[in-house]
Amino acid sequence: LTNRINDVYRCRDTDQREQAMTRSVLISGAGIAGPSLAYWLLRYGYAVTVVEQAPGPRHGGAAVDFRGDQLALLTRMGVLDDIRANQTGMGEQVVVDATGRRQATFPAFLFSGDVEIDRGDLARILYKHSTGAEYVFGDRVTALTQRADAVEVEFAHGGRREFDLVVGADGLHSGVRRLAFGPAERFRTDLGYHTAAFTVPNTFGIDHSGLIYNEPNRYVSVSSARNQADAIVSLLFHAEDLHYDRHDPAALRRVVTEHFAGVGWRTPELLAALPAATDLYVDSLSQIRLDAWSVGRVVLLGDAAWCAGPGGNGTGHAMLGAYVLAGELAAAGGDHRVAFARYERELRPAIEKSQKFAAGAGRYLAPPTERKIRRRDRTYRFLNSRPLSGLLRRLASRNADTGALTDYPDPEAGFRVGSGDSPDPLARR
Ligand SMILES: Cc1cc2nc3c(=O)[nH]c(=O)nc-3n(C[C@H](O)[C@H](O)[C@H](O)COP(=O)(O)OP(=O)(O)OC[C@H]3O[C@@H](n4cnc5c(N)ncnc54)[C@H](O)[C@@H]3O)c2cc1C
Repeated sequence: LTNRINDVYRCRDTDQREQAMTRSVLISGAGIAGPSLAYWLLRYGYAVTVVEQAPGPRHGGAAVDFRGDQLALLTRMGVLDDIRANQTGMGEQVVVDATGRRQATFPAFLFSGDVEIDRGDLARILYKHSTGAEYVFGDRVTALTQRADAVEVEFAHGGRREFDLVVGADGLHSGVRRLAFGPAERFRTDLGYHTAAFTVPNTFGIDHSGLIYNEPNRYVSVSSARNQADAIVSLLFHAEDLHYDRHDPAALRRVVTEHFAGVGWRTPELLAALPAATDLYVDSLSQIRLDAWSVGRVVLLGDAAWCAGPGGNGTGHAMLGAYVLAGELAAAGGDHRVAFARYERELRPAIEKSQKFAAGAGRYLAPPTERKIRRRDRTYRFLNSRPLSGLLRRLASRNADTGALTDYPDPEAGFRVGSGDSPDPLARR
């Protein structure tokens, strides 16, 4: 009798393990996190579909940088050379007053790390790097029904399909998070600032460098783009309880124009160039905090799970998270229950550190008074002086320090999900 009972349990256990095996994954969002995850999952042998609500890859945004340990991940992913070939090569950023006179200098490593690339160029590289995934543009998930063995997914335009797992890599305003976890208000803290980025003609004579101008609660930055004919404008402003339609370019232009009206230096020129910009991005600085990043067969990644805001390593962590999530799935032989728990345990400490750091980014970039602007610039002149510049460099890299990468099964070794040839996940650390 005992043997019979054991047999029944063994079968049930095998059934459950079999049910937990993952072969097909739907990723919502083709920003940074989505294509990064698609790349790793494809290498592990999964069938990957990426659904993106925009009609094509979205190429806007300011520059993003990588530093320290993060370069090891780019190397492992095979994108470092591509990123270097497209890097901004940005030098120092000069803080100017309303007449254009230099007030302070932010050294290159402070904002641009070890390698910096325009977000749009990075998105393009990651999209190209994940060839093999099925990309569906101009669509989005409208309903998710979880079963023991799969997730039924309804699309706004593409009917109904089933996947073993669904990943919400659809950013701060994640649709998957809303469907599987609840409305954004439950998880979102607005920091009281908004950011805008867009491309203008480079009429500033800047070459691998940038200019920064501040007025209380306003930050204006213009940096030369990789293509020297263009410059990338990055704005930040303080505004509580501000609501706008992020999908309405005219509304976004209005928000920017209203909040920078009357701001000095060459800001009026930037506002005049706004109507011609085709890549305007405006969003709030907000943080996302959830008690758990997964529910059943649905898991969140990148800003959808842990948005931190500027200085919070959003891009680096999105790519690291993709590596860890795919690696943990492979290490667990496709068992999402084991993998999701490990993914979260591995990443939480670094994410919490970044969120703490980034919570102060708005006040640092756009101090609330003239006195605080001058005090910040004085501090930077001091820290940037020769004896202290090493300390400044260490402080600037501290937040990106995620430690050594965890090793996962080598996809080149022929490992295939659900084939039963995965290494014992418990034996690996
Ligand atoms: C066009 C653009 C410009 C940006 N510019 C800046 C910037 O200047 N400064 C800054 O700090 N951060 C910017 N970001 C955010 C930054 O890319 C992220 O903080 C970070 O890289 C983490 O990436 P992610 O992939 O998690 O999120 P994101 O890069 O935001 O990507 C999320 C993707 O999901 C898509 N998406 C959203 N909702 C749905 C849905 N319901 N269904 C399907 N797809 C959906 C979005 O269109 C987007 O392509 C920008 C994001 C975008 C999309």
